[in-house]
Amino acid sequence: MFLVQSAVLMCLLTGQSSSKPATSLQVAITIDDLPFVGEHRDFQTMFANTKALLRPIREAKVPAIGFVVGGGADNLPKSEQRRLLQLWLDAGCELGNHTWTHADLDAMSVTDYEAQIMKTDQYLHELLDPVKVDFFRSPYLNDGKNRETKEELQSFLRSQSYKEAPVTIDMDEFYFAGAYDKAVNKGDLATASRIERTYLPYVDKAIRYFEGQSVRVFGRVCSQVILLHAHYLNAKMMPAILDLFRRRHYRFVSLREAISDPAYRTPDKYYGSGGISWIYRWELGKGMSATWPLSPPDWIVRLNAQK
Ligand SMILES: [Zn+2]
Repeated sequence: MFLVQSAVLMCLLTGQSSSKPATSLQVAITIDDLPFVGEHRDFQTMFANTKALLRPIREAKVPAIGFVVGGGADNLPKSEQRRLLQLWLDAGCELGNHTWTHADLDAMSVTDYEAQIMKTDQYLHELLDPVKVDFFRSPYLNDGKNRETKEELQSFLRSQSYKEAPVTIDMDEFYFAGAYDKAVNKGDLATASRIERTYLPYVDKAIRYFEGQSVRVFGRVCSQVILLHAHYLNAKMMPAILDLFRRRHYRFVSLREAISDPAYRTPDKYYGSGGISWIYRWELGKGMSATWPLSPPDWIVRLNAQK
Protein backbone atom coordinates (compact mmCIF):
# COMPACT_ATOMS: atom_id res chain seq x y z
CA MET A 1 0.00 0.00 0.00
CA PHE A 2 2.81 2.36 0.96
CA LEU A 3 4.47 1.77 -2.43
CA VAL A 4 1.26 2.48 -4.34
CA GLN A 5 0.65 5.66 -2.36
CA SER A 6 4.26 6.73 -2.95
CA ALA A 7 3.88 6.15 -6.67
CA VAL A 8 0.67 8.20 -6.79
CA LEU A 9 2.30 10.92 -4.71
CA MET A 10 5.31 10.99 -7.05
CA CYS A 11 2.98 11.35 -10.03
CA LEU A 12 1.18 14.20 -8.36
CA LEU A 13 4.44 15.89 -7.49
CA THR A 14 5.94 15.46 -10.96
CA GLY A 15 2.72 16.13 -12.83
CA GLN A 16 2.95 12.77 -14.65
CA SER A 17 -0.01 10.57 -15.38
CA SER A 18 -0.08 7.39 -13.29
CA SER A 19 -1.26 5.45 -16.36
CA LYS A 20 1.69 4.03 -18.24
CA PRO A 21 1.82 5.16 -21.87
CA ALA A 22 1.87 2.51 -24.55
CA THR A 23 5.51 2.05 -25.55
CA SER A 24 5.24 -0.96 -27.82
CA LEU A 25 5.45 1.00 -31.06
CA GLN A 26 8.86 1.18 -32.69
CA VAL A 27 10.23 3.03 -35.66
CA ALA A 28 13.58 3.11 -37.42
CA ILE A 29 14.53 6.44 -38.99
CA THR A 30 16.21 5.83 -42.35
CA ILE A 31 17.49 8.68 -44.50
CA ASP A 32 18.42 8.27 -48.16
CA ASP A 33 20.54 10.08 -50.73
CA LEU A 34 23.51 11.08 -48.60
CA PRO A 35 25.50 13.16 -48.54
CA PHE A 36 22.70 15.63 -49.37
CA VAL A 37 20.11 16.30 -52.06
CA GLY A 38 19.11 19.72 -53.28
CA GLU A 39 20.30 22.53 -55.43
CA HIS A 40 23.23 23.78 -53.34
CA ARG A 41 26.13 21.40 -53.85
CA ASP A 42 28.91 23.42 -52.22
CA PHE A 43 30.63 21.95 -49.19
CA GLN A 44 29.78 24.69 -46.69
CA THR A 45 26.04 24.51 -47.41
CA MET A 46 25.89 20.72 -47.38
CA PHE A 47 27.96 20.61 -44.18
CA ALA A 48 25.74 23.15 -42.38
CA ASN A 49 22.52 21.47 -43.55
CA THR A 50 23.76 18.00 -42.60
CA LYS A 51 24.64 19.27 -39.12
CA ALA A 52 21.15 20.76 -38.78
CA LEU A 53 19.53 17.53 -39.97
CA LEU A 54 21.52 15.45 -37.50
CA ARG A 55 21.30 17.75 -34.46
CA PRO A 56 17.98 16.38 -33.09
CA ILE A 57 19.03 12.84 -33.97
CA ARG A 58 22.32 13.19 -32.09
CA GLU A 59 20.77 14.95 -29.11
CA ALA A 60 18.06 12.31 -28.65
CA LYS A 61 20.44 9.43 -29.48
CA VAL A 62 18.12 8.26 -32.28
CA PRO A 63 19.84 5.23 -33.88
CA ALA A 64 19.21 6.36 -37.47
CA ILE A 65 20.84 5.09 -40.63
CA GLY A 66 21.84 7.09 -43.72
CA PHE A 67 22.13 5.54 -47.18
CA VAL A 68 25.01 6.88 -49.23
CA VAL A 69 25.13 7.51 -52.96
CA GLY A 70 28.88 6.93 -53.35
CA GLY A 71 29.33 9.37 -56.23
CA GLY A 72 26.86 11.88 -54.80
CA ALA A 73 29.48 14.49 -53.92
CA ASP A 74 32.27 13.69 -56.35
CA ASN A 75 32.47 17.41 -57.19
CA LEU A 76 34.18 17.81 -53.81
CA PRO A 77 37.66 16.77 -52.64
CA LYS A 78 37.81 13.45 -50.79
CA SER A 79 38.65 15.22 -47.52
CA GLU A 80 35.36 17.16 -47.69
CA GLN A 81 33.38 14.06 -48.67
CA ARG A 82 34.88 12.39 -45.60
CA ARG A 83 33.88 15.27 -43.32
CA LEU A 84 30.29 15.17 -44.58
CA LEU A 85 29.86 11.45 -43.94
CA GLN A 86 31.83 11.54 -40.69
CA LEU A 87 29.11 13.84 -39.30
CA TRP A 88 26.72 10.88 -39.51
CA LEU A 89 29.06 8.54 -37.65
CA ASP A 90 29.76 11.22 -35.03
CA ALA A 91 25.99 11.59 -34.52
CA GLY A 92 25.79 7.87 -33.68
CA CYS A 93 24.25 6.89 -37.02
CA GLU A 94 25.03 3.92 -39.18
CA LEU A 95 25.78 4.20 -42.91
CA GLY A 96 24.33 2.05 -45.68
CA ASN A 97 24.90 1.60 -49.41
CA HIS A 98 22.61 3.26 -51.98
CA THR A 99 24.63 2.50 -55.20
CA TRP A 100 27.18 4.77 -56.86
CA THR A 101 24.95 7.01 -59.04
CA HIS A 102 21.51 6.42 -57.49
CA ALA A 103 21.12 3.70 -60.09
CA ASP A 104 17.81 2.32 -61.26
CA LEU A 105 17.84 -1.46 -61.47
CA ASP A 106 15.15 -1.29 -64.14
CA ALA A 107 17.46 0.65 -66.43
CA MET A 108 20.56 -1.58 -66.36
CA SER A 109 21.81 -5.13 -66.16
CA VAL A 110 22.08 -6.77 -62.76
CA THR A 111 25.83 -7.10 -63.33
CA ASP A 112 26.22 -3.34 -63.80
CA TYR A 113 24.00 -2.72 -60.79
CA GLU A 114 26.14 -5.01 -58.65
CA ALA A 115 29.24 -3.13 -59.81
CA GLN A 116 27.58 0.08 -58.57
CA ILE A 117 27.02 -1.48 -55.16
CA MET A 118 30.61 -2.70 -54.92
CA LYS A 119 32.00 0.67 -55.99
CA THR A 120 30.16 2.41 -53.15
CA ASP A 121 31.17 -0.36 -50.75
CA GLN A 122 34.83 0.11 -51.60
CA TYR A 123 34.48 3.91 -51.47
CA LEU A 124 32.99 3.87 -47.97
CA HIS A 125 35.62 1.49 -46.62
CA GLU A 126 38.47 3.51 -48.10
CA LEU A 127 37.04 6.86 -47.05
CA LEU A 128 35.96 6.02 -43.52
CA ASP A 129 38.03 3.02 -42.53
CA PRO A 130 36.99 1.46 -40.23
CA VAL A 131 33.25 1.56 -40.97
CA LYS A 132 30.56 -1.09 -40.80
CA VAL A 133 28.20 -1.15 -43.81
CA ASP A 134 25.64 -3.89 -43.45
CA PHE A 135 22.55 -2.55 -45.25
CA PHE A 136 21.72 -1.83 -48.86
CA ARG A 137 18.72 0.08 -50.15
CA SER A 138 17.69 0.12 -53.79
CA PRO A 139 17.11 3.60 -55.21
CA TYR A 140 13.41 4.08 -56.06
CA LEU A 141 12.92 0.89 -53.99
CA ASN A 142 13.27 -0.96 -57.30
CA ASP A 143 14.69 -4.33 -56.41
CA GLY A 144 13.67 -6.38 -59.43
CA LYS A 145 10.95 -6.04 -62.03
CA ASN A 146 10.79 -9.82 -62.43
CA ARG A 147 11.50 -12.83 -60.31
CA GLU A 148 14.80 -13.69 -61.97
CA THR A 149 16.27 -10.18 -61.46
CA LYS A 150 15.06 -9.98 -57.89
CA GLU A 151 16.49 -13.37 -56.95
CA GLU A 152 19.81 -12.58 -58.62
CA LEU A 153 20.11 -9.34 -56.63
CA GLN A 154 19.12 -11.05 -53.38
CA SER A 155 21.69 -13.77 -53.94
CA PHE A 156 24.38 -11.15 -54.66
CA LEU A 157 23.51 -9.19 -51.51
CA ARG A 158 23.73 -12.36 -49.43
CA SER A 159 27.11 -13.22 -50.97
CA GLN A 160 28.39 -9.79 -49.87
CA SER A 161 26.80 -10.08 -46.39
CA TYR A 162 24.45 -7.19 -47.18
CA LYS A 163 20.89 -7.03 -45.90
CA GLU A 164 18.29 -5.23 -47.99
CA ALA A 165 16.69 -2.35 -46.08
CA PRO A 166 12.91 -2.47 -46.26
CA VAL A 167 10.56 0.51 -45.89
CA THR A 168 7.07 0.60 -44.49
CA ILE A 169 6.35 4.36 -44.39
CA ASP A 170 7.06 5.72 -47.88
CA MET A 171 5.31 8.94 -48.82
CA ASP A 172 6.89 10.71 -51.83
CA GLU A 173 8.16 13.55 -49.67
CA PHE A 174 10.51 14.76 -52.45
CA TYR A 175 7.71 16.92 -53.92
CA PHE A 176 7.69 18.98 -50.72
CA ALA A 177 11.49 19.14 -50.67
CA GLY A 178 11.78 20.43 -54.24
CA ALA A 179 9.05 23.02 -53.71
CA TYR A 180 10.68 24.12 -50.46
CA ASP A 181 14.12 24.60 -52.07
CA LYS A 182 12.54 26.72 -54.80
CA ALA A 183 10.62 28.90 -52.34
CA VAL A 184 13.72 29.43 -50.17
CA ASN A 185 15.91 30.22 -53.19
CA LYS A 186 13.44 32.88 -54.27
CA GLY A 187 13.40 34.32 -50.79
CA ASP A 188 9.67 33.56 -50.62
CA LEU A 189 9.56 32.86 -46.91
CA ALA A 190 5.75 32.98 -46.74
CA THR A 191 5.51 30.04 -49.16
CA ALA A 192 8.37 28.23 -47.39
CA SER A 193 6.51 28.58 -44.12
CA ARG A 194 3.27 27.38 -45.75
CA ILE A 195 5.10 24.29 -47.06
CA GLU A 196 6.40 23.55 -43.55
CA ARG A 197 2.86 23.82 -42.17
CA THR A 198 1.50 21.53 -44.92
CA TYR A 199 4.32 18.99 -44.68
CA LEU A 200 3.90 17.98 -41.05
CA PRO A 201 0.21 16.98 -41.21
CA TYR A 202 1.04 15.08 -44.41
CA VAL A 203 3.78 13.07 -42.63
CA ASP A 204 1.42 12.51 -39.69
CA LYS A 205 -1.27 11.17 -42.04
CA ALA A 206 1.26 8.86 -43.70
CA ILE A 207 2.30 7.44 -40.32
CA ARG A 208 -1.34 6.83 -39.36
CA TYR A 209 -2.15 5.36 -42.77
CA PHE A 210 0.65 2.78 -42.66
CA GLU A 211 -0.23 1.93 -39.06
CA GLY A 212 -3.70 1.10 -40.37
CA GLN A 213 -2.32 -0.94 -43.25
CA SER A 214 -0.10 -2.83 -40.82
CA VAL A 215 -3.12 -3.67 -38.68
CA ARG A 216 -4.87 -4.95 -41.84
CA VAL A 217 -1.98 -7.34 -42.57
CA PHE A 218 -0.85 -8.40 -39.11
CA GLY A 219 -3.61 -7.36 -36.73
CA ARG A 220 -1.12 -5.02 -35.02
CA VAL A 221 1.25 -2.19 -35.80
CA CYS A 222 4.52 -3.84 -36.76
CA SER A 223 7.84 -2.09 -36.20
CA GLN A 224 7.90 0.70 -38.74
CA VAL A 225 10.72 1.85 -41.02
CA ILE A 226 10.25 5.38 -42.35
CA LEU A 227 12.02 6.54 -45.52
CA LEU A 228 13.12 10.17 -45.42
CA HIS A 229 15.72 11.98 -47.54
CA ALA A 230 18.68 14.19 -46.67
CA HIS A 231 17.29 17.50 -47.90
CA TYR A 232 16.85 21.00 -46.58
CA LEU A 233 13.18 20.64 -45.65
CA ASN A 234 13.96 17.66 -43.42
CA ALA A 235 16.95 19.54 -41.97
CA LYS A 236 14.42 22.16 -40.82
CA MET A 237 11.64 19.78 -39.85
CA MET A 238 13.44 16.84 -38.24
CA PRO A 239 12.69 17.90 -34.63
CA ALA A 240 8.98 18.14 -35.49
CA ILE A 241 9.01 14.81 -37.36
CA LEU A 242 10.59 13.07 -34.37
CA ASP A 243 7.94 14.69 -32.17
CA LEU A 244 5.17 13.27 -34.35
CA PHE A 245 6.43 9.79 -33.48
CA ARG A 246 6.94 10.67 -29.81
CA ARG A 247 3.35 11.89 -29.53
CA ARG A 248 2.20 8.50 -30.82
CA HIS A 249 4.40 6.82 -28.18
CA TYR A 250 6.95 5.42 -30.60
CA ARG A 251 10.39 4.36 -29.47
CA PHE A 252 13.25 4.96 -31.90
CA VAL A 253 15.13 1.79 -32.73
CA SER A 254 17.87 0.81 -35.15
CA LEU A 255 16.93 -0.63 -38.52
CA ARG A 256 18.42 -3.92 -37.32
CA GLU A 257 16.09 -3.96 -34.31
CA ALA A 258 13.04 -2.92 -36.35
CA ILE A 259 13.43 -5.75 -38.83
CA SER A 260 13.84 -8.30 -36.05
CA ASP A 261 10.04 -7.98 -35.75
CA PRO A 262 8.64 -11.31 -37.07
CA ALA A 263 6.52 -9.30 -39.54
CA TYR A 264 9.65 -8.84 -41.63
CA ARG A 265 9.89 -12.59 -42.16
CA THR A 266 6.76 -12.33 -44.31
CA PRO A 267 7.82 -13.22 -47.87
CA ASP A 268 8.16 -10.32 -50.31
CA LYS A 269 6.92 -11.67 -53.61
CA TYR A 270 6.49 -8.32 -55.32
CA TYR A 271 8.06 -8.07 -58.75
CA GLY A 272 7.59 -4.78 -60.53
CA SER A 273 9.09 -1.55 -61.74
CA GLY A 274 7.51 0.82 -59.23
CA GLY A 275 9.20 0.38 -55.87
CA ILE A 276 6.58 0.23 -53.14
CA SER A 277 6.29 -0.01 -49.35
CA TRP A 278 6.91 -3.46 -47.89
CA ILE A 279 3.48 -3.29 -46.31
CA TYR A 280 1.97 -3.24 -49.80
CA ARG A 281 4.26 -6.13 -50.78
CA TRP A 282 3.08 -8.17 -47.80
CA GLU A 283 -0.54 -7.31 -48.59
CA LEU A 284 -0.08 -8.47 -52.18
CA GLY A 285 1.45 -11.72 -50.88
CA LYS A 286 -1.71 -12.26 -48.84
CA GLY A 287 -4.02 -11.49 -51.75
CA MET A 288 -4.91 -8.05 -50.39
CA SER A 289 -4.51 -4.77 -52.19
CA ALA A 290 -4.40 -1.14 -51.19
CA THR A 291 -3.86 2.17 -52.90
CA TRP A 292 -1.83 5.02 -51.50
CA PRO A 293 -4.52 7.60 -50.70
CA LEU A 294 -2.34 10.63 -50.06
CA SER A 295 -0.82 12.95 -52.55
CA PRO A 296 0.88 16.30 -52.01
CA PRO A 297 -1.36 19.31 -52.76
CA ASP A 298 -1.36 20.45 -56.41
CA TRP A 299 0.30 23.78 -55.57
CA ILE A 300 3.27 21.91 -54.10
CA VAL A 301 3.53 19.57 -57.10
CA ARG A 302 3.41 22.61 -59.44
CA LEU A 303 6.02 24.53 -57.46
CA ASN A 304 8.33 21.49 -57.40
CA ALA A 305 8.03 21.20 -61.21
CA GLN A 306 8.98 24.84 -61.84
CA LYS A 307 12.32 25.44 -63.54
ZN1 LIG B 1 17.40 7.44 -53.13
